[in-house]
Amino acid sequence: MVRRFLLAYLALLVVALAVFGVLAARATRSRVLSEISGRLQAEVALVAALVRSGPAPAPLQAMLREMGREADVRLTVIGPDGTVAADSHADPSYMENHNARPEVRAAREEGRGTNVRYSDTVRHDMMYLAVLLEAGRKDGVVIRAALPLTRIREEVDALYAGIAAAFGAVGLGGGLVMILLARWVTGPLRAIRSVAQAIVQGDYTRRAPLTEGDEVGSVSGAINQMAEELERRLERLKAEGAKLEAALSSLTDGVLALDGAGRIVHYNAAAASLLSLAPGSERLLVWEVVRHPRMETWTAEALKKGAPVRHALEMGTHDLVLNFSPLQGSEGCVVVARDVTEEKRYENLRKEFVANVSHELRTPLSVIRGYVETLRDEGWKDGENAPKFLEAIDKNVERLSLLVGDLLELSRLESGSQIVHPRKMDLREILERVAEDFRVLASKKRQSLGVEAPASVSCVLDPDLVERALRNLVDNAIKYTPEGGTITLRSALEEETVLFTVADTGIGIPESDLPRIFERFYRVDKSRSRELGGTGLGLAIVKHVAQLMGGTVTVQSQAGKGSVFRLRFPRVG
Ligand code: ADP
Repeated sequence: MVRRFLLAYLALLVVALAVFGVLAARATRSRVLSEISGRLQAEVALVAALVRSGPAPAPLQAMLREMGREADVRLTVIGPDGTVAADSHADPSYMENHNARPEVRAAREEGRGTNVRYSDTVRHDMMYLAVLLEAGRKDGVVIRAALPLTRIREEVDALYAGIAAAFGAVGLGGGLVMILLARWVTGPLRAIRSVAQAIVQGDYTRRAPLTEGDEVGSVSGAINQMAEELERRLERLKAEGAKLEAALSSLTDGVLALDGAGRIVHYNAAAASLLSLAPGSERLLVWEVVRHPRMETWTAEALKKGAPVRHALEMGTHDLVLNFSPLQGSEGCVVVARDVTEEKRYENLRKEFVANVSHELRTPLSVIRGYVETLRDEGWKDGENAPKFLEAIDKNVERLSLLVGDLLELSRLESGSQIVHPRKMDLREILERVAEDFRVLASKKRQSLGVEAPASVSCVLDPDLVERALRNLVDNAIKYTPEGGTITLRSALEEETVLFTVADTGIGIPESDLPRIFERFYRVDKSRSRELGGTGLGLAIVKHVAQLMGGTVTVQSQAGKGSVFRLRFPRVG
């Protein structure tokens, strides 16, 4: 910018000085010419006076030589026939006829003639003035004066030197002023440029200086407005990005965004953990980081098809489902990875449960059916065996009824439709009530069934549910304790929990079975359980009752020595 100002200024200066120089040179030339012409006239007049006074040729020659030297003018007197009578600078006898000279010819014609030309004699441009001595006498004497024009050159040269000096002085001073002016003008522009560059590099906080009321000021204003708007938009984008990031990172499903080539553009924390992505997996091809032989094929399929595709994938111990959803209107797709390990486990449990229930139902049903068919085919007439058949049918119906009852109860507890009614209850009382109900059963096996609990200790719990759990535990204790064994029911208030214990001196549970004992239909010894009328659901019901009231059930047991079941509920009241 500064350079342009300077060049324009210099060009202007050169043109101005050139025009001025040419005009001034012309004026100088015509002024000098008229000066010279004046001097020539004066000299011619002097010589004319001298010639008129009539000296002989020899003194005339000497006088002219003297006058010419003094005035530095060449003076010539030309006779009527054109021969040179006298000359201040040359010997007339060697000089040619001068009538052919243009100024002499003009003088003879018009009384006076001038000419400017190069003189071979003095080797200079000369100005000649010739005048007829006697007006009207064409064949009279002509007096000629000549001066070299070197003065014109000298004066014009001096003029040019002056112009050059002026050019130097004005150019230098003006240039300096110009630079300062340009800097002053371009200063705000440079500031604007640096702000614009900062904006390009992503720094939206810089502002251009506002100069009042000119164009540069309004450009600054516009730049500042643009920067503010960009800053605002960037903030908004950042905030929206953060919201999106927060939403994505709070998802339990893994989300991967891929571009049209299958490169990872973005992924959330869940995707990193589910698909074991190393940090900094962005920009890598998805099949390079998700190690599965079919990953590349699936991605290509989704990108090509443009329709969602779904595939199952095993990652270590986890079962995943990958949903590839191509992006509408742009290249790429979003992959959502869901961990279905738990779902699959539940599904397997459900299948297992249905199979178990079917199996449990089938056995008594086929037994009943067998006996019914036997009775129908004349068996009813068999007076000896018919009652036994009926008894067997009755036993299996009883077993079915127990099973269905337990299943219904379990389903009620699991579905959440069982309502808890907490109320104040006495711990000892409830234990005694349960023991009372089982006393006959225990005495049949000659087992001692005792209660050890402090009197008058109460808490707030649902007594029906607690009783239901205790009944199952006592029922098991009697079933799995040989004759003569001891069963003890205890209760205690701990710091934060209410504890009920059912301990027996029975067959115990092998350590390897302990972790699964509370599963539905899990039995250490299936045939023994069936024989004893067990459904395999008793402990599962106990576990659900405990959970329903925020409690737990645990077991401690040693095969052959006995078991201790502990029910703990949070202590309220
Ligand atoms: P079941 O109807 O078979 O008794 P449960 O769910 O009540 O079903 O108990 C599951 C299994 O746990 C039983 O089959 C039995 O093997 C074992 N078990 C439960 N209670 C005791 C106990 N007090 N002593 C020994 N084994 C027990």
